[in-house]
Amino acid sequence: MQGIDLHTHSNISDGTLSPEQLVHAAVEKGIHTLALTDHDSMDGLKIAENIAQALPLNIISGVEISSQWSRPATKKNYAVHVVALNMQKPEPLLALLEQQKQIRAIRAKQICDLLVPLIGEDIYADVITKVEGVADRITRTHIAKTLVEKGYVSRPQQAFDKYIKEGKKAYVKFDGLGLEETIQVIHESQGFAVLAHPTKYDLSATNIRYLIEIFAQFGGDAVELPPAIEPASTRQMVDRMIEQFGLKVSVGSDFHGDNMPWIKLGNIPRVKEGQVGIWESFV
Ligand code: AMP
Ligand code: MN
Ligand code: MN
Ligand code: MN
Repeated sequence: MQGIDLHTHSNISDGTLSPEQLVHAAVEKGIHTLALTDHDSMDGLKIAENIAQALPLNIISGVEISSQWSRPATKKNYAVHVVALNMQKPEPLLALLEQQKQIRAIRAKQICDLLVPLIGEDIYADVITKVEGVADRITRTHIAKTLVEKGYVSRPQQAFDKYIKEGKKAYVKFDGLGLEETIQVIHESQGFAVLAHPTKYDLSATNIRYLIEIFAQFGGDAVELPPAIEPASTRQMVDRMIEQFGLKVSVGSDFHGDNMPWIKLGNIPRVKEGQVGIWESFV
């Protein structure tokens, strides 16, 4: 199980390494199986595959999809990230990602527009230089970094807390595909649907459990194990849900390069005895 990382970002989304640099970094770390899972984009895959051909590294096709779900009882809407892995016939998913990219591009402009009365400046032109002019790659990480560079906040986290996270004035929800539909399209593309970082959505324990339950009901395949820094009780709760619903597990670092320097490539949690890794199903 060592040497696997199934959740990583390149500069096709909000990582700082190019797909090529990421591949070389993975080989240096002794990783043999790497999934590149940029936000709503598979545009880095071909480059990564080409570079890895001559190297002892197996590239798994991947993408982290910005999805959403709601509790019927409350109708409240929640963002959820689904990592799609190992697509054998990616066309249905690629078509869907074109829509997601458009949503992302429009939303980036909306966030910048909402920031104007708050900071007294339109930073959109600066934000777009961070993604080589490709608007559909803009994430809130890029907007946060721009706010730091321009001196409106001192750290990216502060940009989220003050302006762009849920509940703040420049927050714009990502109106992406629903959870059930996301899982369906991944399966049409002959890939596996993984619930990304279940403990990172600011959800109550009850809502985390509910999310894992509906993810399983909708046909989801695996749940990403929480990082080792999470409390043991959190991990135990996730382990129990995985067992109860017969889900497989996935492991990934959610590496973002220097944008999140505390996350190390290939640093994955340990798999508990009895848990079945989704990678065992890869062809
Ligand atoms: P987006 O997909 O545009 O909403 O951007 C999401 C990315 O922003 C995530 O993948 C994280 O890398 C980062 N992010 C989201 N929420 C926060 C937060 N509260 N603090 C710091 N970074 C965050
Ligand atoms: Mn990210
Ligand atoms: Mn995520
Ligand atoms: Mn991620």
